[in-house]
Amino acid sequence: MTAAGAPDPRTMARLAEILAFDTVSRSSNLACIDWARAHCEAHGAVTRLDFNEDRTKANMLATFGEGPGGIVLSGHVDVVPVDGQPWTVDPFALTVKDGRAYGRGACDMKGFDAVVMGHVPDYAAAARAAGRPIHVAFTYDEERGCLGIPKLIEAMHGWGIRPDGAVIGEPTMMRLVSSHKGGRIWRCRVTGKAAHSSLTHQAVNAIEYAAAIIARIQQISDRERTQGLRVEGFDVPFTTISTNLFSGGNGSNIVPALAEFLFDYRFVPGFDPETIMADLKGLAAELEGRMKAVAPETGIAFELVNKVPALDAKPTDEIYAMSLALLPDKTVEKVAYGTEASFFQDYGVPSIVCGPGSIEQAHKADEFVALDQLAACDRFIGDLLGTMGRRKV
Ligand SMILES: [Zn+2]
Repeated sequence: MTAAGAPDPRTMARLAEILAFDTVSRSSNLACIDWARAHCEAHGAVTRLDFNEDRTKANMLATFGEGPGGIVLSGHVDVVPVDGQPWTVDPFALTVKDGRAYGRGACDMKGFDAVVMGHVPDYAAAARAAGRPIHVAFTYDEERGCLGIPKLIEAMHGWGIRPDGAVIGEPTMMRLVSSHKGGRIWRCRVTGKAAHSSLTHQAVNAIEYAAAIIARIQQISDRERTQGLRVEGFDVPFTTISTNLFSGGNGSNIVPALAEFLFDYRFVPGFDPETIMADLKGLAAELEGRMKAVAPETGIAFELVNKVPALDAKPTDEIYAMSLALLPDKTVEKVAYGTEASFFQDYGVPSIVCGPGSIEQAHKADEFVALDQLAACDRFIGDLLGTMGRRKV
Protein backbone atom coordinates (compact mmCIF):
# COMPACT_ATOMS: atom_id res chain seq x y z
CA MET A 1 0.00 0.00 0.00
CA THR A 2 1.17 3.51 -0.73
CA ALA A 3 0.15 6.58 1.21
CA ALA A 4 -2.31 8.95 -0.44
CA GLY A 5 -0.35 11.40 -2.55
CA ALA A 6 2.72 9.16 -2.74
CA PRO A 7 3.77 7.86 -6.14
CA ASP A 8 3.85 4.15 -6.94
CA PRO A 9 7.25 2.80 -5.78
CA ARG A 10 7.66 1.30 -9.26
CA THR A 11 7.39 4.79 -10.75
CA MET A 12 10.02 6.13 -8.35
CA ALA A 13 12.38 3.25 -9.14
CA ARG A 14 12.01 3.83 -12.90
CA LEU A 15 12.44 7.59 -12.39
CA ALA A 16 15.78 7.07 -10.64
CA GLU A 17 16.89 4.89 -13.55
CA ILE A 18 15.74 7.11 -16.42
CA LEU A 19 17.11 10.34 -14.90
CA ALA A 20 20.57 8.75 -14.79
CA PHE A 21 20.75 8.54 -18.59
CA ASP A 22 22.25 11.71 -20.07
CA THR A 23 19.80 12.08 -22.94
CA VAL A 24 20.51 15.75 -23.69
CA SER A 25 19.47 16.12 -27.32
CA ARG A 26 23.07 16.40 -28.58
CA SER A 27 23.91 12.93 -27.16
CA SER A 28 22.87 9.43 -28.17
CA ASN A 29 19.71 8.09 -26.50
CA LEU A 30 20.46 4.43 -27.27
CA ALA A 31 21.37 3.40 -23.72
CA CYS A 32 18.07 4.79 -22.46
CA ILE A 33 16.10 3.16 -25.28
CA ASP A 34 17.83 -0.20 -24.65
CA TRP A 35 16.84 0.05 -20.99
CA ALA A 36 13.19 0.81 -21.83
CA ARG A 37 13.09 -1.90 -24.47
CA ALA A 38 14.51 -4.57 -22.16
CA HIS A 39 11.97 -3.68 -19.46
CA CYS A 40 9.04 -3.80 -21.91
CA GLU A 41 10.17 -7.07 -23.47
CA ALA A 42 10.61 -8.66 -20.06
CA HIS A 43 6.90 -8.01 -19.53
CA GLY A 44 5.66 -9.40 -22.83
CA ALA A 45 5.95 -6.53 -25.29
CA VAL A 46 6.92 -6.72 -28.93
CA THR A 47 9.26 -3.78 -29.48
CA ARG A 48 10.21 -1.96 -32.66
CA LEU A 49 12.97 0.61 -33.07
CA ASP A 50 13.23 3.36 -35.64
CA PHE A 51 16.74 4.82 -35.91
CA ASN A 52 17.92 8.23 -37.04
CA GLU A 53 20.19 8.45 -40.08
CA ASP A 54 23.51 7.92 -38.29
CA ARG A 55 21.98 5.36 -35.90
CA THR A 56 22.93 7.33 -32.79
CA LYS A 57 19.32 7.73 -31.67
CA ALA A 58 16.14 5.71 -31.87
CA ASN A 59 12.42 5.97 -31.37
CA MET A 60 10.86 2.96 -29.66
CA LEU A 61 7.39 1.54 -30.00
CA ALA A 62 6.55 -1.24 -27.54
CA THR A 63 3.28 -3.11 -28.07
CA PHE A 64 1.50 -5.12 -25.39
CA GLY A 65 -1.38 -7.30 -26.55
CA GLU A 66 -2.74 -7.92 -30.00
CA GLY A 67 -5.08 -6.55 -32.59
CA PRO A 68 -5.64 -3.20 -34.28
CA GLY A 69 -6.10 0.16 -32.58
CA GLY A 70 -5.42 0.43 -28.89
CA ILE A 71 -4.02 3.29 -26.88
CA VAL A 72 -0.54 4.77 -27.12
CA LEU A 73 1.21 6.39 -24.17
CA SER A 74 3.87 8.63 -25.63
CA GLY A 75 6.82 10.62 -24.29
CA HIS A 76 10.11 12.01 -25.48
CA VAL A 77 13.23 10.88 -23.65
CA ASP A 78 15.52 13.72 -24.75
CA VAL A 79 16.11 16.67 -22.43
CA VAL A 80 17.55 20.16 -22.76
CA PRO A 81 21.17 20.92 -21.75
CA VAL A 82 22.25 21.88 -18.23
CA ASP A 83 25.28 23.91 -19.32
CA GLY A 84 25.66 27.19 -17.48
CA GLN A 85 22.67 26.57 -15.21
CA PRO A 86 23.16 26.89 -11.42
CA TRP A 87 22.13 23.36 -10.37
CA THR A 88 22.39 22.58 -6.65
CA VAL A 89 21.73 18.84 -7.13
CA ASP A 90 23.14 16.34 -9.65
CA PRO A 91 20.96 16.84 -12.76
CA PHE A 92 21.52 13.22 -13.86
CA ALA A 93 20.43 11.54 -10.66
CA LEU A 94 17.19 11.47 -8.70
CA THR A 95 17.09 13.69 -5.62
CA VAL A 96 13.93 13.53 -3.51
CA LYS A 97 13.30 16.26 -0.97
CA ASP A 98 10.42 18.42 0.27
CA GLY A 99 7.82 16.46 -1.69
CA ARG A 100 9.63 16.93 -4.97
CA ALA A 101 11.69 14.78 -7.32
CA TYR A 102 14.60 16.73 -8.82
CA GLY A 103 16.64 16.01 -11.95
CA ARG A 104 17.00 17.16 -15.55
CA GLY A 105 13.80 16.07 -17.27
CA ALA A 106 11.97 15.23 -14.02
CA CYS A 107 9.21 17.52 -15.26
CA ASP A 108 9.81 17.56 -19.05
CA MET A 109 9.16 14.73 -19.37
CA LYS A 110 10.89 11.82 -17.71
CA GLY A 111 8.37 12.00 -14.85
CA PHE A 112 5.67 10.84 -17.21
CA ASP A 113 8.06 8.39 -18.88
CA ALA A 114 8.74 6.89 -15.44
CA VAL A 115 5.02 6.51 -14.70
CA VAL A 116 4.61 4.76 -18.06
CA MET A 117 7.59 2.47 -17.36
CA GLY A 118 6.37 1.88 -13.80
CA HIS A 119 3.12 0.41 -15.11
CA VAL A 120 4.78 -1.84 -17.71
CA PRO A 121 4.11 -5.02 -15.66
CA ASP A 122 0.36 -4.28 -15.89
CA TYR A 123 -0.03 -3.67 -19.63
CA ALA A 124 -0.19 -7.21 -21.02
CA ALA A 125 -3.06 -8.21 -18.72
CA ALA A 126 -4.85 -4.89 -19.25
CA ALA A 127 -4.57 -5.22 -23.03
CA ARG A 128 -5.92 -8.77 -22.89
CA ALA A 129 -8.87 -7.65 -20.74
CA ALA A 130 -9.56 -4.67 -22.99
CA GLY A 131 -9.30 -6.67 -26.19
CA ARG A 132 -6.96 -4.14 -27.76
CA PRO A 133 -3.29 -3.30 -27.45
CA ILE A 134 -1.41 -0.81 -25.33
CA HIS A 135 1.55 0.88 -27.01
CA VAL A 136 4.37 2.80 -25.42
CA ALA A 137 6.14 5.30 -27.67
CA PHE A 138 9.45 6.90 -26.69
CA THR A 139 10.95 9.46 -29.05
CA TYR A 140 14.16 11.43 -29.65
CA ASP A 141 14.87 15.08 -30.54
CA GLU A 142 11.57 16.56 -29.37
CA GLU A 143 13.50 19.40 -27.77
CA ARG A 144 15.16 20.16 -31.10
CA GLY A 145 11.79 20.94 -32.71
CA CYS A 146 9.88 17.62 -32.78
CA LEU A 147 12.36 16.03 -35.19
CA GLY A 148 11.98 12.41 -34.06
CA ILE A 149 8.22 12.00 -33.99
CA PRO A 150 7.58 12.43 -37.75
CA LYS A 151 9.99 9.52 -38.32
CA LEU A 152 8.20 7.36 -35.78
CA ILE A 153 4.82 8.14 -37.35
CA GLU A 154 6.22 7.21 -40.76
CA ALA A 155 7.56 3.96 -39.32
CA MET A 156 4.22 3.18 -37.63
CA HIS A 157 2.55 3.68 -40.98
CA GLY A 158 4.95 1.12 -42.44
CA TRP A 159 4.33 -1.31 -39.57
CA GLY A 160 0.57 -0.97 -40.09
CA ILE A 161 0.02 0.36 -36.55
CA ARG A 162 -2.54 3.10 -36.02
CA PRO A 163 -3.81 3.37 -32.43
CA ASP A 164 -7.33 4.59 -31.48
CA GLY A 165 -5.98 7.35 -29.26
CA ALA A 166 -2.83 8.85 -27.78
CA VAL A 167 -1.86 10.44 -24.48
CA ILE A 168 1.24 12.63 -24.66
CA GLY A 169 2.46 13.29 -21.13
CA GLU A 170 4.00 16.75 -21.40
CA PRO A 171 3.68 18.62 -18.09
CA THR A 172 0.14 20.03 -17.78
CA MET A 173 -0.38 19.70 -13.99
CA MET A 174 -2.52 16.67 -14.90
CA ARG A 175 -5.07 18.79 -16.74
CA LEU A 176 -6.28 17.86 -20.16
CA VAL A 177 -4.80 20.01 -22.91
CA SER A 178 -6.94 19.77 -26.02
CA SER A 179 -5.39 22.37 -28.30
CA HIS A 180 -2.19 24.09 -29.21
CA LYS A 181 -1.08 26.23 -32.07
CA GLY A 182 0.80 24.87 -35.05
CA GLY A 183 4.10 26.36 -36.15
CA ARG A 184 6.23 26.84 -39.22
CA ILE A 185 9.73 28.24 -39.61
CA TRP A 186 10.78 29.17 -43.13
CA ARG A 187 14.03 30.40 -44.60
CA CYS A 188 13.87 32.81 -47.54
CA ARG A 189 16.97 33.29 -49.65
CA VAL A 190 17.09 36.12 -52.17
CA THR A 191 19.81 35.88 -54.81
CA GLY A 192 20.46 39.18 -56.56
CA LYS A 193 23.31 40.54 -58.61
CA ALA A 194 26.14 42.61 -57.15
CA ALA A 195 27.54 45.79 -58.66
CA HIS A 196 29.28 48.92 -57.51
CA SER A 197 26.71 51.09 -55.80
CA SER A 198 27.10 53.73 -58.51
CA LEU A 199 25.78 51.20 -61.06
CA THR A 200 22.44 50.22 -59.55
CA HIS A 201 20.81 49.84 -62.96
CA GLN A 202 23.09 46.83 -63.64
CA ALA A 203 22.41 45.24 -60.25
CA VAL A 204 19.63 43.35 -58.50
CA ASN A 205 19.50 44.45 -54.88
CA ALA A 206 18.85 41.33 -52.81
CA ILE A 207 18.17 43.29 -49.59
CA GLU A 208 15.56 45.49 -51.23
CA TYR A 209 13.68 42.51 -52.70
CA ALA A 210 13.90 40.72 -49.35
CA ALA A 211 12.49 43.85 -47.70
CA ALA A 212 9.49 43.75 -50.03
CA ILE A 213 8.69 40.23 -48.83
CA ILE A 214 9.30 41.17 -45.19
CA ALA A 215 6.92 44.13 -45.57
CA ARG A 216 4.26 41.68 -46.81
CA ILE A 217 4.92 39.46 -43.77
CA GLN A 218 4.27 42.46 -41.55
CA GLN A 219 1.01 43.18 -43.41
CA ILE A 220 -0.11 39.59 -42.90
CA SER A 221 0.74 39.91 -39.20
CA ASP A 222 -1.38 43.08 -38.89
CA ARG A 223 -4.25 41.52 -40.84
CA GLU A 224 -4.33 38.38 -38.67
CA ARG A 225 -4.23 40.45 -35.50
CA THR A 226 -7.10 42.72 -36.52
CA GLN A 227 -9.31 40.61 -38.80
CA GLY A 228 -7.97 37.04 -38.66
CA LEU A 229 -9.52 33.87 -37.27
CA ARG A 230 -9.80 34.07 -33.46
CA VAL A 231 -9.84 31.03 -31.22
CA GLU A 232 -10.68 32.04 -27.67
CA GLY A 233 -8.89 30.23 -24.87
CA PHE A 234 -5.39 30.96 -26.18
CA ASP A 235 -3.35 33.70 -24.51
CA VAL A 236 -2.84 35.10 -28.00
CA PRO A 237 -6.07 34.05 -29.76
CA PHE A 238 -4.94 34.71 -33.34
CA THR A 239 -2.23 33.63 -35.79
CA THR A 240 1.10 35.43 -35.40
CA ILE A 241 3.91 35.83 -37.93
CA SER A 242 7.22 37.65 -37.73
CA THR A 243 10.65 37.91 -39.35
CA ASN A 244 13.20 37.04 -36.70
CA LEU A 245 16.62 36.75 -38.29
CA PHE A 246 18.17 38.60 -41.22
CA SER A 247 21.52 38.70 -42.96
CA GLY A 248 22.65 40.34 -46.16
CA GLY A 249 25.13 42.62 -47.82
CA ASN A 250 28.90 42.95 -47.59
CA GLY A 251 29.83 46.58 -47.96
CA SER A 252 28.44 50.09 -47.88
CA ASN A 253 29.28 50.70 -51.54
CA ILE A 254 28.26 47.30 -52.99
CA VAL A 255 24.76 46.48 -54.13
CA PRO A 256 24.11 43.23 -52.23
CA ALA A 257 23.89 39.95 -54.12
CA LEU A 258 22.51 37.93 -51.24
CA ALA A 259 19.97 38.34 -48.47
CA GLU A 260 18.55 35.67 -46.25
CA PHE A 261 15.97 35.76 -43.49
CA LEU A 262 14.00 33.43 -41.24
CA PHE A 263 10.37 33.97 -40.38
CA ASP A 264 8.16 32.07 -38.01
CA TYR A 265 4.42 31.75 -37.72
CA ARG A 266 2.20 30.22 -35.04
CA PHE A 267 -1.29 29.50 -36.27
CA VAL A 268 -4.50 28.76 -34.41
CA PRO A 269 -6.37 25.49 -35.12
CA GLY A 270 -8.61 25.99 -38.13
CA PHE A 271 -6.21 28.38 -39.87
CA ASP A 272 -4.78 26.98 -43.11
CA PRO A 273 -1.03 27.63 -42.85
CA GLU A 274 -0.62 27.13 -46.60
CA THR A 275 -2.47 30.39 -47.33
CA ILE A 276 0.45 32.39 -45.96
CA MET A 277 2.93 30.65 -48.23
CA ALA A 278 0.61 30.94 -51.24
CA ASP A 279 0.53 34.69 -50.63
CA LEU A 280 4.31 35.04 -50.18
CA LYS A 281 5.18 32.77 -53.09
CA GLY A 282 2.78 34.73 -55.31
CA LEU A 283 4.56 37.95 -54.37
CA ALA A 284 7.96 36.29 -54.89
CA ALA A 285 6.96 35.21 -58.41
CA GLU A 286 6.03 38.81 -59.26
CA LEU A 287 9.31 40.14 -57.86
CA GLU A 288 11.33 37.47 -59.66
CA GLY A 289 9.90 38.68 -62.97
CA ARG A 290 11.51 42.06 -62.37
CA MET A 291 14.75 40.58 -61.03
CA LYS A 292 15.27 38.18 -63.92
CA ALA A 293 14.64 40.94 -66.45
CA VAL A 294 17.95 42.42 -65.20
CA ALA A 295 19.83 39.19 -64.50
CA PRO A 296 18.34 35.75 -65.24
CA GLU A 297 20.47 34.01 -62.58
CA THR A 298 18.71 35.84 -59.75
CA GLY A 299 15.76 34.47 -57.81
CA ILE A 300 13.90 33.88 -54.56
CA ALA A 301 13.78 30.51 -52.79
CA PHE A 302 11.84 29.36 -49.73
CA GLU A 303 12.91 26.46 -47.57
CA LEU A 304 10.83 24.92 -44.78
CA VAL A 305 13.02 24.67 -41.67
CA ASN A 306 10.53 23.35 -39.13
CA LYS A 307 6.91 22.27 -39.03
CA VAL A 308 4.58 21.44 -36.12
CA PRO A 309 0.87 20.85 -36.83
CA ALA A 310 -1.84 22.46 -34.68
CA LEU A 311 -3.61 20.28 -32.11
CA ASP A 312 -7.37 20.39 -31.94
CA ALA A 313 -8.81 17.47 -29.96
CA LYS A 314 -12.60 17.08 -29.88
CA PRO A 315 -14.69 16.28 -26.79
CA THR A 316 -16.25 13.50 -28.87
CA ASP A 317 -12.87 11.78 -29.33
CA GLU A 318 -12.82 8.61 -27.24
CA ILE A 319 -9.43 9.37 -25.68
CA TYR A 320 -10.60 12.89 -24.76
CA ALA A 321 -13.88 11.74 -23.17
CA MET A 322 -12.30 8.76 -21.40
CA SER A 323 -9.42 10.82 -20.00
CA LEU A 324 -11.53 13.77 -18.86
CA ALA A 325 -13.88 11.37 -17.05
CA LEU A 326 -10.91 9.99 -15.10
CA LEU A 327 -9.22 13.28 -14.23
CA PRO A 328 -10.23 14.96 -10.96
CA ASP A 329 -9.55 18.41 -12.45
CA LYS A 330 -12.05 18.98 -15.28
CA THR A 331 -10.31 22.10 -16.63
CA VAL A 332 -9.56 21.79 -20.34
CA GLU A 333 -6.77 24.03 -21.56
CA LYS A 334 -5.29 25.47 -24.70
CA VAL A 335 -1.53 26.08 -24.56
CA ALA A 336 1.01 28.12 -26.45
CA TYR A 337 3.71 25.45 -26.87
CA GLY A 338 3.72 22.74 -29.53
CA THR A 339 3.85 19.02 -28.75
CA GLU A 340 4.10 15.64 -30.43
CA ALA A 341 0.34 15.17 -29.95
CA SER A 342 -0.49 17.04 -33.14
CA PHE A 343 1.72 14.68 -35.17
CA PHE A 344 -0.35 11.73 -33.94
CA GLN A 345 -3.52 13.68 -34.69
CA ASP A 346 -2.31 14.35 -38.25
CA TYR A 347 -1.81 10.58 -38.61
CA GLY A 348 -5.47 10.07 -37.72
CA VAL A 349 -4.89 9.22 -34.06
CA PRO A 350 -7.01 11.45 -31.76
CA SER A 351 -4.64 12.81 -29.12
CA ILE A 352 -4.57 14.76 -25.91
CA VAL A 353 -1.75 16.19 -23.80
CA CYS A 354 -1.82 15.37 -20.09
CA GLY A 355 1.08 14.82 -17.75
CA PRO A 356 2.57 15.52 -14.33
CA GLY A 357 4.33 18.73 -13.35
CA SER A 358 4.18 22.30 -14.54
CA ILE A 359 5.74 23.68 -17.70
CA GLU A 360 6.99 26.48 -15.40
CA GLN A 361 9.54 24.04 -13.99
CA ALA A 362 10.70 22.73 -17.36
CA HIS A 363 14.15 23.50 -18.76
CA LYS A 364 15.34 25.28 -15.58
CA ALA A 365 18.10 24.65 -13.04
CA ASP A 366 16.87 22.32 -10.27
CA GLU A 367 14.01 21.12 -12.48
CA PHE A 368 11.55 19.10 -10.43
CA VAL A 369 8.20 17.37 -10.47
CA ALA A 370 6.02 17.33 -7.36
CA LEU A 371 5.53 13.83 -5.94
CA ASP A 372 1.78 14.34 -5.68
CA GLN A 373 1.75 15.09 -9.42
CA LEU A 374 3.48 11.77 -10.09
CA ALA A 375 0.95 10.07 -7.82
CA ALA A 376 -1.93 11.71 -9.71
CA CYS A 377 -0.45 10.48 -12.98
CA ASP A 378 -0.03 6.97 -11.53
CA ARG A 379 -3.75 6.97 -10.71
CA PHE A 380 -4.68 8.30 -14.13
CA ILE A 381 -2.68 5.67 -16.02
CA GLY A 382 -3.94 2.90 -13.72
CA ASP A 383 -7.54 4.02 -14.23
CA LEU A 384 -7.05 4.37 -17.97
CA LEU A 385 -5.92 0.74 -18.14
CA GLY A 386 -9.09 -0.32 -16.35
CA THR A 387 -11.37 1.81 -18.51
CA MET A 388 -10.04 1.24 -22.02
CA GLY A 389 -11.90 -2.04 -22.40
CA ARG A 390 -15.27 -0.64 -21.42
CA ARG A 391 -15.79 1.70 -24.36
CA LYS A 392 -18.88 1.45 -26.50
CA VAL A 393 -18.01 0.03 -29.89
ZN1 LIG B 1 8.65 18.10 -23.40
